[in-house]
Amino acid sequence: MKHLLIIGGGPAGTFAAIAARKQDPSADVTLLTDEACEPYEKPPLSKAVLLGKVLPADALIAGPGGVARHGVRLELSARCAAVHRGDREVVLQDGRRLHYDALIIATGSLPREVPQLPAGRPRVHYLRTESDAQSLKTALRESRNLLVIGGGLIGLEVAASAAELGVRTTVLEVAPRILSRVCDEETAADLHAAHRQRGVEILVNTTLRSAESMTDGRIVVVTGAGERFIADIVVVGAGIRPNDALAAAAGLATDDGVLVDKQCRTSDAAILAAGDVVRFPGPRGRVRLENWGHALDQGTVAGRNAAGAHDAYVMVPSFWSEQFDLYIQGVGWPVPEASRVRRPLNGKRAMILEVSDGLLTYAMGINAQRDLAAARRLIERRVPVNPAALADPAQPLAGMLKR
Ligand SMILES: Cc1cc2nc3c(=O)[nH]c(=O)nc-3n(C[C@H](O)[C@H](O)[C@H](O)COP(=O)(O)OP(=O)(O)OC[C@H]3O[C@@H](n4cnc5c(N)ncnc54)[C@H](O)[C@@H]3O)c2cc1C
Repeated sequence: MKHLLIIGGGPAGTFAAIAARKQDPSADVTLLTDEACEPYEKPPLSKAVLLGKVLPADALIAGPGGVARHGVRLELSARCAAVHRGDREVVLQDGRRLHYDALIIATGSLPREVPQLPAGRPRVHYLRTESDAQSLKTALRESRNLLVIGGGLIGLEVAASAAELGVRTTVLEVAPRILSRVCDEETAADLHAAHRQRGVEILVNTTLRSAESMTDGRIVVVTGAGERFIADIVVVGAGIRPNDALAAAAGLATDDGVLVDKQCRTSDAAILAAGDVVRFPGPRGRVRLENWGHALDQGTVAGRNAAGAHDAYVMVPSFWSEQFDLYIQGVGWPVPEASRVRRPLNGKRAMILEVSDGLLTYAMGINAQRDLAAARRLIERRVPVNPAALADPAQPLAGMLKR
């Protein structure tokens, strides 16, 4: 490989760049990001950054100057406007044209916009980038009440941070319960109760009819049932969509994400893709994942393969979230027909495990990091499990690995 170009300075692009250089130390690698700062971690944006505990600059993916130390050329504020596959060129918004021998698309995802609350309207916040987080952090300090649209992970993390800052917070969720795409009903009910106990009001089954700015700048939101809420600021956490327009415009196969094979190759053999932007072959058909660990691992595989390897991306997915003093984790592939076991844990801890064909397929826990680490190994190694033993907290999960 002569020149590898990577579009996108999130974890997928950054780990792809570093992995390519490790795979082939002679590789000429350029990482392009449209952001003005070195690649940073997004998970703290809705938590420690809003709480003022860290700055995005304190959470750089490869540390200060770390990308360059790996021998990768990093171009900041370099927005890619088009990919010309025939000439193997990327056209930047400033008019420059960059040749590639191999290209990795790692453009991530974009927040789904709610039409009644367009991005850019004063006092309406979407949260994806460090600059979004900085402006929300400032706004929260000037607000007494916040309305969050969406009871998914980002919405609930923002709600928890705002409540900790003393901002009265209400969450409107359209589904019958929070976190319907993320966890089982019991865990969702536990988390709902935890928010309520800490002063966050969550309304489920609640649609949005209208949202208007009042003369004093505040926003009045009317629900489908006619209830009115007046908010100093509104945060929209209505999910994300893959940022695949660049790939689609270049004629690559896309369908709710860039389609890739197990080796992260797109429909063009010279172009790979990784992270939030792709749909890849999972155990039960193509899937799109939206979490840090996936972006890191898949980016690493894409980088290695662009530099000459032929690795398959096979992994056990996992995610985490932090809300108040609750550390929420999930690991594995949920299987619809799996049977569910609750492992009673003490205090603010909880764990749900799913078993299918005698194997652990999915585990979800609150403040159960050690058990989740053992569950991950049980899933990865396909260790046969006994549901009664899983439900018995006296039997350590780590002990089941040794049998
Ligand atoms: C607020 C927040 C909190 C989160 N918390 C968690 C968490 O607790 N746990 C967890 O597992 N996951 C969390 N996530 C999800 C996780 O951060 C993402 O899954 C991950 O960042 C995806 O990585 P990526 O590299 O695919 O895309 P991204 O991180 O989105 O990076 C894509 C990059 O490409 C750049 N780009 C896009 N288009 C172009 C272009 N045309 N030219 C140049 N550059 C371009 C973008 O600006 C961006 O820098 C969180 C996400 C957010 C936003």
